[in-house]
Parts: sequence; structure tokens; C-alpha cells
Amino acid sequence: MTETTTSSSERPSLPMQGVPQPRREEVLNLPRVHISSHPVMAHKLTAMRDKNTQPPEFYRLVKEIGALLAYEATETLALERVEIETPMRPMIGQRLAGGIGVTPILRAGLGLAEGFREVIPEVQIWHLGLRRDEQTLQAMEYYNQLPHRVDLQVCYAVDPMLATGGSAIDAINVLKRRDIPRLCYLGIIAAPYGLLKLSQTHPDIDIYIAALDESLNDVGYILPGLGDAGDRQFGTL
Ligand code: URA
Repeated sequence: MTETTTSSSERPSLPMQGVPQPRREEVLNLPRVHISSHPVMAHKLTAMRDKNTQPPEFYRLVKEIGALLAYEATETLALERVEIETPMRPMIGQRLAGGIGVTPILRAGLGLAEGFREVIPEVQIWHLGLRRDEQTLQAMEYYNQLPHRVDLQVCYAVDPMLATGGSAIDAINVLKRRDIPRLCYLGIIAAPYGLLKLSQTHPDIDIYIAALDESLNDVGYILPGLGDAGDRQFGTL
């Protein structure tokens, strides 16, 4: 979720306030939206949602779910042929063609990026910190480690909670200025509101999530959700 500088008492109104939220069934079959149906994912997600799960275990689960999502989201990556020699004889093998980028949206995206990296250690990690300017509502990059030279076949923006969709949309806007052939979003739990917003604003990206929940509450938290994904990973409860 985009970091803001305001306290909760002076929180700006959220974009979905006063607007009816779409129902879960209405967004279940959006194009290019992939919702995991893997039983291991469901098992880990339930452990993560449990309010009794403490930060060390929570962080471990975020990483494991990040790895499972990475496996699902990289199913269609391009391969190239490569000549190698096994201990027995030469052969033509395959390797991933072009670089793979992962952009964790700070700070909650960090655990997911770590999990992704366990599946593909060669990924480039492009850290991105976004803040909304309260006057202009423009996304401001307060931290940006995006390299100048881009040689990626795909980049995944990762953030566990797709709530109002604001930070995911802003992150994809930032990445779109980088001339990357393919962009994806990868998250753990989405609310129907944020999922619809992201999919409508960026219909050209693939969206991978582990679960689609029911709704947002009046301060933009997902229900039933899991609470604050950043605080629960980093013990700042
Ligand atoms: N960010 C979170 O950490 N949790 C939510 O439910 C929504 C946004």
C-alpha cells in the first residue's frame, strides 16, 4: 500500500467512499486475472490470515506464498535454446530468455520479492517507494532503485494487498515509462474494488493473486483479509 504522511485522524477520503463496491462474483472472470486454486496456497494463506500468527511465521509464509505465486506467474515466460554438455554427452537445453524484474512496492512487497527470488535467484529487484501527493493525488516516488539500462522480458510489480488499487496502478504507471515488453502484478489478497480498478486501468497486464476476498472496509482494509501486511511482516503492530 502506498505510504502516506497523514495521521489516521486527518486521513484523506478514499476513492471508493460513497461508491458501491463490486461484488466478488462480478470480478471473478475478468480477462488476464489469475486466481490461484492450488490447495497448498489455500493452506498457507489460512495460516497467514490467522490473527494468532506472529511476525516471524507470517514473514516466512509471505515468502513461501511469494514463491508459489512466482511459480504460477512465470508459466508463460519465453525460453531460448542453449548448448550444454551433460557428463554423458552434448545436448540442447533451454534457459529463460531475457531478464526478469521484480518490483516490490515498499514496504509490504519485500517479503513477496524474497519469495520470488528463491524460485529465480537471477531476478533483478527494482525497489519502489510511492507516496500520494495529497493535493494533486499524483504518485510521488520517494525511493526508486530502477536501473537506467532495461534488458527485461518481463517485470512483476509485487504488493501483498490489492485494496483500492491505487499503489498498484501507480507502480505500473512508473514501470510503463521504462519500455519493458511485458508487465504483471502479483499479490496475495485482492478486494473486488481494487482488482476491477487495476484491470480496467491497465487491461494489458496479467494479474496473479492467491485469493479474492469480499470487500473493503471504510478505511480501505480488505475483509476478511489479514490486517496490515506490512506491520505483520515487520513486527510493527
Ligand atoms: N494494506 C494492508 O496491509 N491490508 C489491507 O487490508 C489493505 C491494504
